[in-house]
Amino acid sequence: MNERIQVLVTGGGPAGTTAATLLARQGFEVTLLERDRFPRYHIGESLLPSLLPVLDVMGAREAVELHGFTRKTGAFYGWSGQEWQLQFDTPDRPAAYSFQVIRSEFDHLLLEHAREQGVNVREETRVRRVGFDGERATSAEWTSRDGRRDGQTRFECLVDASGRAGLLSARQLRTRRFHDVFRNVAVWSYWRGASPLEGTPEGAIGVFSLPEHGWFWAIPLHDGTLSVGLVTDKHSFNRAREQNGSLDGLYEEALTQCPLLGRMLDGAKRVSGLQVESDYSYVAEEFCGPGYYLAGDAACFLDPLLSTGVHLAMYSGLLSAAAIGSVLRGEFDEMSAQHFYRTAYRHAYERLLILVGAFYRIHDGRDVYFRRAQSLSHRDQQDLRLHESFLNIVTGTEDLGDAQNDAVTQLFDRLARPLHGHRAQGLGGHGTSHMVPLPTRPEQASAGLYLTLDPVGLRRATSS
Ligand code: FAD
Repeated sequence: MNERIQVLVTGGGPAGTTAATLLARQGFEVTLLERDRFPRYHIGESLLPSLLPVLDVMGAREAVELHGFTRKTGAFYGWSGQEWQLQFDTPDRPAAYSFQVIRSEFDHLLLEHAREQGVNVREETRVRRVGFDGERATSAEWTSRDGRRDGQTRFECLVDASGRAGLLSARQLRTRRFHDVFRNVAVWSYWRGASPLEGTPEGAIGVFSLPEHGWFWAIPLHDGTLSVGLVTDKHSFNRAREQNGSLDGLYEEALTQCPLLGRMLDGAKRVSGLQVESDYSYVAEEFCGPGYYLAGDAACFLDPLLSTGVHLAMYSGLLSAAAIGSVLRGEFDEMSAQHFYRTAYRHAYERLLILVGAFYRIHDGRDVYFRRAQSLSHRDQQDLRLHESFLNIVTGTEDLGDAQNDAVTQLFDRLARPLHGHRAQGLGGHGTSHMVPLPTRPEQASAGLYLTLDPVGLRRATSS
């Protein structure tokens, strides 16, 4: 089968469905090819409040609200001997919340929504290869899971949202780079019969550091189970596995070192086997190129400490839909739109990367995290309180504000400089300067574009 369309999206996770839905709603012809049949299992269950405005723009908010996912109103930290909690709801952000989701259900819901919005969704269809005409991505070859159908789809633009599989960055272009400092391993399973800690926000994620290496997440899900995952660096993981003789031994032993989590699990029963993911933080050298955009995990992946994966996936889905739409409508040339995309997205990623790095310096204490968050937020110039600054970043709302206020370039400049007390190469050799040309010169700052949500698109800052 041979076909020609306007936009092809590979992958039906949150990045792919966000991009596809928002492009279809702008009236473009969009096909989404997904390797699996949904619903399919996926890790990444704790979502940030920044999801709500994106769901609104997608027209998917009501369906998500009605589904019955656990409502998440904050987070609880037992970190380095200190305990504190974040309640998303603040006086100037009343009733902010998010969801703890069973991803098979959440992703399925968004895929069906994309279909309803006019996206041509084809499941069990794996994209084998992207074809280039010179440097421009122009087509994709795909095969159905049973091998009976295959074909080529020609497109004007591609959004590669193939997740960790990384169709373009990991397989074809080989531009994926792993972070040395976040060579972590996660081991998780599900428990039934757990109880929340008294006095913590409703539906909160619990984050608990271990005395030496690693931390646990505890995420309450609407089927009555608690997702409990251990994250540790690879070296400690290998040593602990040797000492404990098995993966189960390692997981159970780590649980005994975490009394707060032990209280939650008192009387609870583990109802699933262990699952493992390793070496999982990376970034692609380029987030876009002629005729293509990388969105979500296909572009970069950050340690799950701050639950930022789905936020970055949907945020980049939104940015890509705005950039592609504005080019297809002839409002901006591709170079300007892509400059905006890579700057906005990379900035969001790198700020979170630095914050996660700071968080891992477990013994710094709580005030240091707040100060670090403050130095990463442009709103600190407006006497923003430390707590709010931290909250902005961990809830993801700062990113949406940045894109709309054209503060991206300014923030990116700041991030290019090492933070006080932070070595330039301290993030696994991930200095910002060699990854992309920094938009510090006047001609690079000419992007000057910002995001609009109604309608989804871009606008030049000076002409608004
Ligand atoms: P995905 O959701 O992975 O979707 C990609 C899709 O592409 C898949 O459905 C796949 O089948 C499809 N695909 C792949 N290759 C092809 C191909 N060749 N052709 C067609 N389709 C293809 N994030 C959070 O927000 N909160 C958390 O609490 C959290 N916890 C995490 C814990 C761990 C241990 C890990 C590893 C990650 C966690 N994450 C979390 C991150 C989160 O899982 C991801 O960031 C998120 O799923 C990214 O969405 P995506 O749409 O980019 O990719």
